[in-house]
Amino acid sequence: HLLNQYLEYKGNIRVFVRVRPILSQDFKAYGGTQESFDVIQKAIQALNNSQLSIELEKSPPQTFNFDAVFGPQSTQDQVYAEVKHLIQSFLDGNDVSIFAYGQTGSGKTYTMGTEMSKQTSQGNQGIIPRAVRQVFGEIQGRKDQVQEGQEEAKEAREDGMRVSVQEIYMDSIRDLLNLQNVITQNNAISKYEPESITVTNEAQVFTLLRKAENNRVVAETMCNERSSRSHSILQIKLGKATLNLIDLAGSERLNTTKVEGDRQKETLAINKSLSALADVISAMKEGRFVPYRNSKLTQLLQIYLGSSSAKTLMIVNLNPISLNESLCSLRFAAKVN
Ligand code: ADP
Ligand code: MG
Repeated sequence: HLLNQYLEYKGNIRVFVRVRPILSQDFKAYGGTQESFDVIQKAIQALNNSQLSIELEKSPPQTFNFDAVFGPQSTQDQVYAEVKHLIQSFLDGNDVSIFAYGQTGSGKTYTMGTEMSKQTSQGNQGIIPRAVRQVFGEIQGRKDQVQEGQEEAKEAREDGMRVSVQEIYMDSIRDLLNLQNVITQNNAISKYEPESITVTNEAQVFTLLRKAENNRVVAETMCNERSSRSHSILQIKLGKATLNLIDLAGSERLNTTKVEGDRQKETLAINKSLSALADVISAMKEGRFVPYRNSKLTQLLQIYLGSSSAKTLMIVNLNPISLNESLCSLRFAAKVN
């Protein structure tokens, strides 16, 4: 039965890769000419819809296979077209978790749509606002059916949609809808319950997300750029199912960030929780004992990742300027794929 379990889990874990385009701000940040950027962009290429190749200096190109590969020209619409089935699966009653992984600046927040303030047009909206809209579209559709008196639709009436927003920083969990609600590194997660707010329309969700964003800024004054050093978790609950939308902390390695002191501790905490996540996903996939207890992130998500019909999507974001970091991200992706 291990083989069956393996096939089942494998089918429920998907890995996408997205390479962001080279942006005008990169010219300022990294220096270089258009020609040098063209060379860099060519070194990391979507070969087709599921293969990506990366070529580092003095080594032959390496090819990786994924469930989907999005090149630098890919749009938010195209990415969402491959995500919406998972949102539908959540609406059908399954626990679904979608992660954005990658180094800082690789496009995690853009892809996930975590920051409401940055999404000015409908076209550049990321996964979160689109998913929220899809969920309310379905709820409205079910309500209409009930009004038309269709029997089978009655059971679909929900007790409301609930939202919570949390961040995990240095293995402490902070409830971004209630800053008093904190679980520090050494406290057990069993006593913790995030504030969960019932919402009846899209606008209410977006207001809560803005509130969470402001609260994150308040916490951030104590630590610069904290948002890129913490995992941000939006949970949407409907009936018995939970949708987790997670913008992970930057995966950059220690030696490239040239840090010491607190920054070093941060990086170690991030590395620890990201590798705990990879260990959990690869153990689930291989039908081994799943080691949830190695980080707050995996402890918090255990009941969702481990439920019988759970589905998981890892979107690995790559910054084409940083080929070495991209290779590390691809290795992470290969481990969970
Ligand atoms: P991260 O969250 O991984 O640190 P961001 O999502 O903040 O990275 O992206 C870094 C910068 O690149 C931002 O200015 C963002 O708007 C831009 N960006 C990321 N991905 C894309 C994309 N696919 N198309 C256009 N701009 C992008
Ligand atoms: Mg970000």
